[in-house]
Amino acid sequence: MRNLLDIMDLSTDELDSLIKTALDIKDHPEKYADACKRKKLATLFFEPSTRTRLSFEAAMYELGGNVIGFSESSSSSAAKGESVADTVKVVSNYADIIAMRHPKDGAALVAVRNANVPVINAGDGGHHHPTQTLADLLTIYREKGGFRGLTIGLCGDLKYGRTVHSLVYAMSRYEGVNFVFISPEELRFPRYIIDDVLEKNGIPYLETSDLEEAIPKLDILYMTRIQRERFLDLNEYERLKDSYILTPEKLISAKKDMAILHPLPRVNEISVALDKDPRAKYFEQTLNGKYMRMALILKLLGLDGKPSDETEDTVRDVIYDRFRCPNHRCITTTEQELRQEFYSVDEEQGVYRCVYCDTEIRK
Ligand code: ASP
Repeated sequence: MRNLLDIMDLSTDELDSLIKTALDIKDHPEKYADACKRKKLATLFFEPSTRTRLSFEAAMYELGGNVIGFSESSSSSAAKGESVADTVKVVSNYADIIAMRHPKDGAALVAVRNANVPVINAGDGGHHHPTQTLADLLTIYREKGGFRGLTIGLCGDLKYGRTVHSLVYAMSRYEGVNFVFISPEELRFPRYIIDDVLEKNGIPYLETSDLEEAIPKLDILYMTRIQRERFLDLNEYERLKDSYILTPEKLISAKKDMAILHPLPRVNEISVALDKDPRAKYFEQTLNGKYMRMALILKLLGLDGKPSDETEDTVRDVIYDRFRCPNHRCITTTEQELRQEFYSVDEEQGVYRCVYCDTEIRK
């Protein structure tokens, strides 16, 4: 059974094939109108969402299927203290596929381990958001005709921004791609992804806090929101919230065909005056997200008529209950009975990471 926990669960060929299917759905929606007849999607949203939840729901309806679910944890038994594990065990009896969003890092892995139907991670805390990446990839593909050789600027909250984490994993598979990380010092891109993905594969990247200096080099500028809900210290949020505001003036030195993406919701980091600029692609991105989610649902339900590259589950030696995850946003802090589980990154140096949220510890 296939799940989508993070974007690396899909091979490059599968990503290409999802893009093809999504483009076909866009051009020939009638061909797919009954593809999921009598199938049910459960949308389990423990955290608010507009685009992701509604686009999953629209996707399933446009495939002829049905949707059940909840849009906030207060309207589910989570409010009574029910665990994620129990919720997905129950919902597996009612639905053919689950899309789940949760505020805790690693919650999606708990769901995958307990469900009997395919699970799609629709965002787990500040960790991963693979279906946003599917929307981003289709948008980049439609704008640039492919992915090779692109310079991608990612700007804003790169620390907690799950969308940028997933996008970097996906884009680093394509030849000649390089990244410019633009953020305040406090919100820099996670070191573990830089080490695992970029350093390891010799992919060029630059870290800066200067948006205007970076802009002229970029083919894609991916803006993100500074996410209030991820800060423990609201004073820090207040200090950082207006770090970057993209205005028409700042684009004077940008390439004429640079595409501006944003996972939305926008607060003030892109001036509304830019919405009319032909380079602004963030609203088209939301439509692309629906097509890609349709393609993904078909794939995970085995209804796309294509062979599935059954990716091997990463086999890792894990250590149980020797360390405690220090990440206060990790699912292990709230989920009852969940054991502490770490994998070794460098045994000699004593470097380990939490299986759920990838937080690194050194012993
Ligand atoms: N919609 C995106 C997410 O769910 C970005 C955001 O919320 O700022 O991560």
